[in-house]
Amino acid sequence: MHSEAPPLVRIAEIERAEIPATGETGFAIRESDAAGSAFALVPPDICVCEACLADTRDSANRRFDYPFTNCTNCGPRYSIILDIPYDRPMTTMAEFAMCADCRHEYEDPESRRFHAQPNACPVCGPRLILNVPGQPRAPLSAREILTRVADLLREGRIVAWKGLGGYQLACDATQPAAVEELRRRKRRSEKPFAVMAGDADFAAALCFLSPAEREALVSRERPIVLLRRRPESPLAEGVSPGNPATGVMLPCTPMHDLLFRILRERWGREAALIMTSGNISEEPIVIENAEAEERLADIADAFAHHNRRIHTRVDDSVVRVVLGETMLLRRARGYAPQPVFLGRGEAEVLACGAQQKNTLCLTRAGFALPSQHLGDLENFETLRFFEETLERMSRLFHVHPTAVAHDLHPGYLSTQFALRMEGLRRIPVQHHHAHIASCMAEHRLQGRVIGVAWDGTGLGTDQTIWGGEFLAADYLGFDRFARLRPVLLPGGDAGVREPWRIARSYLLDTLGSIPSGPPWDQMAALERLRVMDAMLRRRVNAIPTSSAGRLFDAVASLIGLRHNVSFEGQAAMMLEAAAQEFSPATAPPYDFTFAEPDRPDAAGEADFRPMIRRILEDLARGDSRPRIAARFHATLVAAIAAVCRRMRADLGLDRVCLSGGCFQNALLLQGCVKTLHGEGFEVFTHHEVPANDGGISLGQAAIACEILAADPS
Ligand code: ZN
Ligand code: ZN
Ligand code: FE
Repeated sequence: MHSEAPPLVRIAEIERAEIPATGETGFAIRESDAAGSAFALVPPDICVCEACLADTRDSANRRFDYPFTNCTNCGPRYSIILDIPYDRPMTTMAEFAMCADCRHEYEDPESRRFHAQPNACPVCGPRLILNVPGQPRAPLSAREILTRVADLLREGRIVAWKGLGGYQLACDATQPAAVEELRRRKRRSEKPFAVMAGDADFAAALCFLSPAEREALVSRERPIVLLRRRPESPLAEGVSPGNPATGVMLPCTPMHDLLFRILRERWGREAALIMTSGNISEEPIVIENAEAEERLADIADAFAHHNRRIHTRVDDSVVRVVLGETMLLRRARGYAPQPVFLGRGEAEVLACGAQQKNTLCLTRAGFALPSQHLGDLENFETLRFFEETLERMSRLFHVHPTAVAHDLHPGYLSTQFALRMEGLRRIPVQHHHAHIASCMAEHRLQGRVIGVAWDGTGLGTDQTIWGGEFLAADYLGFDRFARLRPVLLPGGDAGVREPWRIARSYLLDTLGSIPSGPPWDQMAALERLRVMDAMLRRRVNAIPTSSAGRLFDAVASLIGLRHNVSFEGQAAMMLEAAAQEFSPATAPPYDFTFAEPDRPDAAGEADFRPMIRRILEDLARGDSRPRIAARFHATLVAAIAAVCRRMRADLGLDRVCLSGGCFQNALLLQGCVKTLHGEGFEVFTHHEVPANDGGISLGQAAIACEILAADPS
């Protein structure tokens, strides 16, 4: 089973049982059993395999240049499956009748395409359709269409084309004007764009590429891999402004591969294209032809559609390689709807996730089924996508939840959705407890662990904003052993886009007053500074937060790196990038202190005021930003290790789970893993779901299952 498993097989566990002989004499592959209770796992969409690529590149093959070539080892799955059992009539390929040649392959157990449900060829399968507004439409071959696309891209135009899990917007990533135009039309100011390169060697010419990163790029999930741009890279600065981290992916379908072959021929050089989700700012990715023409009308100059329907929208996945291992930042195409095997509990629950980077999660038969990345639940369209995904996953996996788990935050649309559900047991779960439980669930940990949950925002049980938490946790509950010393966030969550606000809060907390004169009165307009300072001093319209994400923001602003951001986490990314410019790689940490709790039921406090004071001195001395940023990271690592040691001494725990969005920071994660290992801790990090809020639903689901098992009432 292990050594001869086909490439796409995943073995969760093997059970052995003696069964009586039935007296059968032959071997038969039977029709799928359509029984209503069947629990079948649905495979994710998988990138084109080498054999299929070879077919499409061979001019003697009947699939030469055919963009929809696939086989049992590759091709679309989750995005085209309507229902189970997974047979052709239950996919969006049902409307294409196989020709005699395809049918023959489909029925031949010796063929690579035996029972390949999306099997197709140029005679019988889907076709590309080009629409350039203002030009007459004509039936063209795939090569003709992609040649026109290649020429449009060379002219600096923006093309919307239908990928595997949704529309993508493409333009030449080496033409600054084209990239700026795409930013303007997509109303996206600074958030980095992903880039597609034709092969791994060209990706290595654009960005530094370690062997593990190359492996992630060519993996069958074909995710976007965050890489560090080479200084001499031909990519336009506008691809990821002010940020050396650039997301790169390789072609994942024969259609993408064919386009890059044509680009090479027409342009006479290797091409790098922006390949970003076809949507308007934060809305879900567009999947239907007519919808694309309507919604993307103001963005795209041309549309390359095809007539194979996408049933389920699945965005491109995003990963980063840390310590030689792949870490998911966004889990979607290629990964979803792969289950996480919990190995315990039969309960069927729905977990609604958080707000940012939302996912939902269902459980059944000891499996957790996290959905693909759904997006920030901040608009009607994304909520619709959430509801649609819930409905489809419930049907696909035959899940009938008896309980619904949700965040404590009453303002999250996911919480409001959960509270509207009738007849289900409600299980509220604290945000950071869910982060730690998601890490525990991935590793099937039982018992209590040290949970370091560091992120931007999550509502605490005391109605303040948490985010720098040290929890002694199991699935059923947690004690808040320690936290970051809380500071006030003036203007609440609205202040997240303006790191200068939290920077002034740290100044006030550290120095007892906010200094004036440059650079301090240049952090924002004077009038706004005055208003915020007054809020801070009078403690009005300002909520206390122990958020580690806000500490990153504060330091980024204090050292003048960034006073305003256009997306959450931007300041932290820039701080990490600055620290990576520092060599030697190890920087001495600044001072911090640990304050014992003042009551037995209160939490201890990691206090970074000594660090802030030293940073201000270093700044005044003219110390370099990379050095300060590197020492800042080293301080956080030292503080986490110090509190973990304290928890081991007080509570006898030596397993540490690291979770929350801050652990997407490679320096912080690497530093913590190495230091904690060195001190004899067992350290657990995320591999199957993101450390960010995309992993929250898995944690909520794991907690709900254990609560139901402990108290079935
Ligand atoms: Zn194949
Ligand atoms: Zn055919
Ligand atoms: Fe979080």
